[in-house]
Amino acid sequence: MNVVIAMSHVGSQSLGYPFLTDASNRMSRRDFLQITGIAALGILAGCVHVQASAPTAELVLTNGKIITVDPLDSIAQAVAVKNGKILDVGDAEKIAQYIGNNTRTVDLKGKTVTPGLIDAHAHLPFFGLRENGWFLNLQGMRSKEEILEALAQKARKTPKGEWISAWGVESMSMSYLNKEDLDRVSTSHPMLVVFTGGQWGFTNSLALKIAGIDKDTSDPTGGRIGKSALGGNPDGLLANYPALNLVRMHMPLPDEAQSREALLHAANLYAAEGVTTVHDNFFSLGTPHFHRAYFHTTRNGQMPLRIKVWPYIPNASIGKKVQYALFQSHESYPQSKIRNLISYQRESPELFNSLWGGFKMAVDGAGGGLWHFNPYAIPLHQPEELHKMFRLFHQAGHQVSVHAVGDKAVDQLLDAVEASLKEHPRQDHRHRIEHALGPGTLGLDRIQKLGMVICTHPQWIFGWGDKWGGLKARENDIGVMPLRSYVQRGITVAFGADPPAFPLYQPQVALWQAGARVTRDGYRFDPAEGISIQDALRAQTMGSACAGSQEKEVGSIETGKEADMVVWDRDFYTIPQDEIRNVKAEVTMVGGKVVHKSEETTLF
Ligand SMILES: [Zn+2]
Repeated sequence: MNVVIAMSHVGSQSLGYPFLTDASNRMSRRDFLQITGIAALGILAGCVHVQASAPTAELVLTNGKIITVDPLDSIAQAVAVKNGKILDVGDAEKIAQYIGNNTRTVDLKGKTVTPGLIDAHAHLPFFGLRENGWFLNLQGMRSKEEILEALAQKARKTPKGEWISAWGVESMSMSYLNKEDLDRVSTSHPMLVVFTGGQWGFTNSLALKIAGIDKDTSDPTGGRIGKSALGGNPDGLLANYPALNLVRMHMPLPDEAQSREALLHAANLYAAEGVTTVHDNFFSLGTPHFHRAYFHTTRNGQMPLRIKVWPYIPNASIGKKVQYALFQSHESYPQSKIRNLISYQRESPELFNSLWGGFKMAVDGAGGGLWHFNPYAIPLHQPEELHKMFRLFHQAGHQVSVHAVGDKAVDQLLDAVEASLKEHPRQDHRHRIEHALGPGTLGLDRIQKLGMVICTHPQWIFGWGDKWGGLKARENDIGVMPLRSYVQRGITVAFGADPPAFPLYQPQVALWQAGARVTRDGYRFDPAEGISIQDALRAQTMGSACAGSQEKEVGSIETGKEADMVVWDRDFYTIPQDEIRNVKAEVTMVGGKVVHKSEETTLF
């Protein structure tokens, strides 16, 4: 170590060491003194070449391009890791001081490293159940005939009377299938075939019969039972969660082992794509097996990723009970489905807090269920109910993450946020809008003013842009998914792939689409709203970390942070835009531990 570098911790930016930024100041006093102490004595003694007793790293990555995503977007050559955290990052010569006899030193041979990517919106157990075949996976099937044939094949292999549960219809039409179509497949298996977004599904006659749904059944609040124009009999459509739940409550749920297997399957798929943290924005309160799967796999070290969960709250009355049971009185809900959560919170508060994100709500649906883009869509809550729900959690100091896609849904949510903030002002609340496809300029103004975080998904443009047709924001003045407008206004943007609601979970698709904005058929969707790869990577790392209040621990490669890093086979910053989607993660590390290594890599 030389004196200049030691001093750089004192005033890195003024000394022109862009590798060392604010995070250096978060280094503990002990580490600071350990690294700088002897050299500082050297200054007093007038010596320059005093060897410091620099701490020894357990791992050093060197001779690479380390994209730090620090506040200055610095690029470094090497990084040292100790106790699973970033010890230092900088040029190769400087980092070499941390190499000791037991340090594992990896020559990156010029390869690019980024912070671990953070997927800020996913539904891991359902994603795993889709990928491992628990749901019949319809993703990618392009015609109704193909879907019906896949269902018929499944029926032939399934004992009569057992449920057939399928996921992944990609058509946005809520009349894509009907009861008669599914009855032709089978009348002896109850059947639920769900749209990829999860907001509506189609049933056959047997499923309706088991659920006791007939022409006299009225719509549940916030949901709709499709009925034929002639005679008013159910036509098989169940729109929005309250209607779907009328059938789902009769269906078998995965058991504990299946839940754990699905969760880990999904987590490992993510790790292989360079993702190190996932936010589950629809943590289901009604599935205790999922709760156990999350907590057990995290506690026993099986879970390769960092996880945050936001349980879904269907209405104010359930919200009140859950909030009371979890955060006010543990004793009030001993027999409920959330009793596991209550006991985890009591027995392992640290684990509970590390997993807990806040609460999730929804205002509208998707595709044909968007509010305003589709005049037939049904909002899930009346404005007073939404305000009541939002206020409940806001007032208690929680973060609230709200699904609002259509512009009217966003407006209604912003009304609830504005009123709640007026009643109970809170700094840095981090309330999130999930999706916000076309808020328009008026919506943007309010999003900025109210300090909302936007969590959105550029990959949707590729997957669904062609189906959106001429979709525009209400005022017709800004584009759909206005990323550039968000960034220019300083609004925090997070990215999440939203599987299984969206077919492609690879974050590289988002990094590519944030700039390219091109649909599957080649149409460029509001290109003026594209952002640079640097801004896109920031959204997928620091932006998503902020959305989960994790920005002090993860999201960038800075001293003191968790050593969550990815070595890539190519450099996002220098390859042509169209190649970004094909970049592969060679090695993914969480807390300095390798959780994925590609077969091709020779680095580790
Ligand atoms: Zn979602």
